[in-house]
Amino acid sequence: LAEQAWQQREQPAVTTDGHRIEIAANLGNTADTAAAVAAGAEGVGLLRTEFVFMEQGREPSLQQQVAQYQQAFSALAGRPLVARTLDVGGDKPLPYWPLPKEDNPFLGVRGIRLCMQRPELLETQLRALLTAAGSEPLRIMFPMVADIAEWRFGKALFDNLQAEIGAPNVQLGMMVEVPSAALNAARFAKEADFFSIGTNDLTQYTLAADRGNGALASLSDGLHPAVLRLMAMTVEAAHAEGKWVGMCGELGADPQALPILLGLGLDEISVSPKRLPRVKARVREFSLSQCKQLAARALTADSAGAVRALTGATP
Ligand code: PEP
Ligand code: MG
Repeated sequence: LAEQAWQQREQPAVTTDGHRIEIAANLGNTADTAAAVAAGAEGVGLLRTEFVFMEQGREPSLQQQVAQYQQAFSALAGRPLVARTLDVGGDKPLPYWPLPKEDNPFLGVRGIRLCMQRPELLETQLRALLTAAGSEPLRIMFPMVADIAEWRFGKALFDNLQAEIGAPNVQLGMMVEVPSAALNAARFAKEADFFSIGTNDLTQYTLAADRGNGALASLSDGLHPAVLRLMAMTVEAAHAEGKWVGMCGELGADPQALPILLGLGLDEISVSPKRLPRVKARVREFSLSQCKQLAARALTADSAGAVRALTGATP
């Protein structure tokens, strides 16, 4: 089966009833882009850009940043790149950024919140991304958006730069990884071009369960119906505004989750390159209509265990 999945890695992921979903790659480094394309990635669905800022003991120059993103665009040969802006702070400090110690780093100044305190840093990153893109398809998203003011802060910076630099093929979106963003998705969807659901953090914040705490591993399940409801709200809100929704959290590569995610109506799923051929192959096993029925039942289940039991019964 693995052999067949690998042979068909270049083929699109289409269900038995003809519904296509885009399968992209999660990357932590632009050097891995070519390997992701070779594994059948239809684009990069999440570029974690932290590496750009951590490779040396000081802030990278604009030129260094541009060079990194150009490397990705050239390997992608016209496929889209979804780049997430810097997501540090809290438990992920940058050595050259003295941050005050926090009692609850996961609930602290991280992601877009930190960039609001250092707007010049985000501005340089956006400038580098737009400059590197030229006319290539670039999608930029902000991490950890909880409130519309954070989104609008990022969007205002972006709009100014795009007016100046003029990369024409760019969309601006946001991660949905904080419950408030999912709950208010209908408002965000009026202003954002797309959403990408980050199930790692969305699960952690919905269930109040630290994603790194092994003692809570069984509680930290992205298939919990509470998390699924937030995902369903997000997809519905986006589609009502004609916007697309991807998923870039680990749940996207969970074989049991896949039919439910298809049934919820996701437009794109981004997974680590090594899992990519298998995910594509698995999409081809399902019909969208079956998946929709399964997702509807999952949303009314009482626990993650009950949801998993439902998927076990699926052909
Ligand atoms: C997520 O939270 O699901 C996500 C994709 O982002 P990260 O794992 O980098 O926090
Ligand atoms: Mg996250």
